[in-house]
Amino acid sequence: MTTIGVLALQGDVREHLLALASTDALARPIRRPAELDDVDALVIPGGESTTMSKLVGEFELYEPIRKRIADGMPVYGSCAGMIMLATEVLDGRPDQRGFDGIEMTVRRNAFGRQVDSFEAPVEIVGVPGPRFDAVFIRAPWVERVGDGVRVLGRVTEGPAADRIVAVRQGNLLATAFHPELTGDLRVHQYFVDMVRDATA
Ligand code: GLN
Repeated sequence: MTTIGVLALQGDVREHLLALASTDALARPIRRPAELDDVDALVIPGGESTTMSKLVGEFELYEPIRKRIADGMPVYGSCAGMIMLATEVLDGRPDQRGFDGIEMTVRRNAFGRQVDSFEAPVEIVGVPGPRFDAVFIRAPWVERVGDGVRVLGRVTEGPAADRIVAVRQGNLLATAFHPELTGDLRVHQYFVDMVRDATA
C-alpha cells in the first residue's frame, strides 16, 4: 500500500490527511525523523513557512528530509510547502531555510497584502477535467524556474493572470494554492499516481 506522510509541525495538516485518506493511499502525520522511514512520500502543508522552517530545525528534520529528497522521495508542497521546496525565496526572513528541492524563485505573499485570500481559475497540465477553483491564502507565486522545472499551472484570468502557481521537477510537485481545502482531490490523486510511478 502506498503510504504518504504529512509533515505535521504546523499548518493545515489535518486537511491534507483527510484529502489523502480519500485517495487510494494511506496517510500519516510525520513529526520525527524515524517516522520518515515508514513512508513512500511526503506532503508539506500550507501554513507559515518561517514558523515551519524554525520547527523543522528544532525537530531535526532538515537533513533526513533533504537526504530522502536526494534519494528520489516524491514530495508535494502546497503554499508554505511550495516555499519550503524552493531554492530561492524572495521576501522571506533572513533566517528562513528550506529543502532546496525545486530550482525556482518564489515570492512570499506575492499577490499583495491587501488581498489575503481569493479564488481564481487554474488549469493544470496532466490533470484532466475542468479548471481548478484554486484557493490562494497569502500565497506565493513563482517568478523564475530552472531548466529542469515544468510549469504545470498558471492563473488563467484576473489581475494575476499568467502567474505560475503549479510546478514539477522530477518527483517534486508544488502548488501555490490549497487543493486540500476545496474537496477537489485531483491534485492529491495526481501526486499519489506520481508516487506509484516513482516506487513501481
Ligand atoms: N504566507 C505564508 C508563508 O509565507 C504561506 C501561506 C499559506 O501557506 N497559506 O509561509
